[in-house]
Amino acid sequence: MQIKRNVLLNPGPSTTTDTVKMAQVVPDICPREREFRSIMAPMREELVKIVHGGDDYAAVLFCGSGTICIDATLNSLLDAGKKALVINNGSYSQRAVDVLDCYGLPFINLEQPIYTVPDLSAIEEALKADDGIGYVYMAHHETGSGLLNPIREVGALAHEYGAFFIADTTSSYAMIPINVYDDNVDFCMASAQKGIMGMAGLSYVIGRRNIIEESSRYPKRSYYCNLYMQYDFFERTGEMHFTPPVQTIYSARQALMEYWNEGEGKKWERHQRVMAAIHHGEEKLGLKEILDRSVQSGLVSAVKYPDDPNWDFEKVHNYCYERGFTIYPGKIEQQGTFRLCALGAIDESDIEEFWKVFEAALKEYGIQTPVWYKEA
Ligand SMILES: *Cc1c(COP(=O)(O)O)cnc(C)c1O
Repeated sequence: MQIKRNVLLNPGPSTTTDTVKMAQVVPDICPREREFRSIMAPMREELVKIVHGGDDYAAVLFCGSGTICIDATLNSLLDAGKKALVINNGSYSQRAVDVLDCYGLPFINLEQPIYTVPDLSAIEEALKADDGIGYVYMAHHETGSGLLNPIREVGALAHEYGAFFIADTTSSYAMIPINVYDDNVDFCMASAQKGIMGMAGLSYVIGRRNIIEESSRYPKRSYYCNLYMQYDFFERTGEMHFTPPVQTIYSARQALMEYWNEGEGKKWERHQRVMAAIHHGEEKLGLKEILDRSVQSGLVSAVKYPDDPNWDFEKVHNYCYERGFTIYPGKIEQQGTFRLCALGAIDESDIEEFWKVFEAALKEYGIQTPVWYKEA
């Protein structure tokens, strides 16, 4: 079977291999069969292994998009009388604020500039000023801007002040090497459609067993999205509490096999090679990014809209889309940006092809190259 290959430069779901796509095509099976359970146990272990966790960490799988992990960790891991501290420097940490707000939970919204790494002393001040902070939450990679946050340093601060540390690693997990011990991460999370290059619909929290077990006596605020309840069901039965995304799990199994075959280091090198090709094309066309290279993750490049009167993101997007390349609008308020991402099963040759198409789109719509910006 020939499947058209699209190069997705959006921040997930990402381009997958045909073998991962085809792994979904399996005989119908009831997920309560032992045969299906036998897939879940090694998968949970492998998901922990990706971030170098030992037996003191467990993976808890959910059927849902990545946001389900933000929801589950935030609502399940806050003890009565405790407060959350959110380091808010982008649209994904804002999502954590929205979740806490939605549950009516107490939190400190520590807003930080979105173009630079957060001020560690401000975080320390916040921790010092309040001894009721249960956990600190931060996005590792702010996917909206492409900013990489200092999880190791912030995790260490959280621990110093008796809080534990939750990192949203949805857009870095299985791409940027993470070691939960060295990086001071008690909880991290991801979704199969991003780093492991699987299908959407399966997401996972990887976290410290002792904290999850301790949380069994915390107030329960959700039935479907309670971390301990899902963990406990896995531990007792080896299954998801409710119907798992069966075919997505088969493709995730294949994706994990391909992850180990490629290898942590080689895969990260490939993503960086892809980003170097993205940067190279931007420089050639004079496209400007909103973030300084020194604070970028290496996985997302947020590009400023040119000031050319003929610039029209929709048109350029559609031109590229029709030719198999998907670019993505930005998530920065009050500023026109679009994003080019280095996730997925792509390599630098795909990016070289992309730039040819992008340049042709600029020509087609009379957008001057190198592109024009008002400010020099
Ligand atoms: C993609 C992503 C999520 C999850 O988004 P969904 O649309 O729910 O899959 C969460 N956090 C970050 C940092 C992400 O990049």
